[in-house]
Amino acid sequence: MNKLLLSACLAGQPVRYDGASKPQYLEQLQVLIDSGQAVILCPELAGGMAVPRDAAEIQGGNGDQVLNGLTRVITVNGEDVTGQFISGAQKALELCQRESITVAVLTEKSPSCGSQQTYDGSFSRTLNDGHGVTAALLSKYGIKVFNESQIEQAIDCLNAETDINNEQ
Ligand code: SF4
Repeated sequence: MNKLLLSACLAGQPVRYDGASKPQYLEQLQVLIDSGQAVILCPELAGGMAVPRDAAEIQGGNGDQVLNGLTRVITVNGEDVTGQFISGAQKALELCQRESITVAVLTEKSPSCGSQQTYDGSFSRTLNDGHGVTAALLSKYGIKVFNESQIEQAIDCLNAETDINNEQ
């Protein structure tokens, strides 16, 4: 059975940098959580960060560039947390490979989880196009990454993949 990775804050866990969450109320998603077909993870906590923590942004690039050593993730107080972000992304990938996770729903605009946009490193709420660090690594390994406005698409994708597996 293929599974779906879900950002912990979207599942209602208070793991964001400020201790908030971003719960999504959708019956189909709750069914997946209850059945264990949705696996919940916060990559930043998996990478060793705490709650609360300083806000962090990718400095003028995207997650792919972070993975390639071309830019860094820095907190609002100037601490370099690139290592923790990469470690969290690796933990997320290991979990996906271990649990047959092929689809992810991750929180948009996060420097870890953003799949289309992240903040640009100026801490002025200016957005850059591109993946966060975890979304970049998962995409590189073929996991299909969606955001919280695309949950139904993500579930359709998961169901289609499960149907194909069942036919094989
Ligand atoms: Fe949510 Fe992802 Fe940020 Fe964790 S790293 S708080 S799961 S957006």
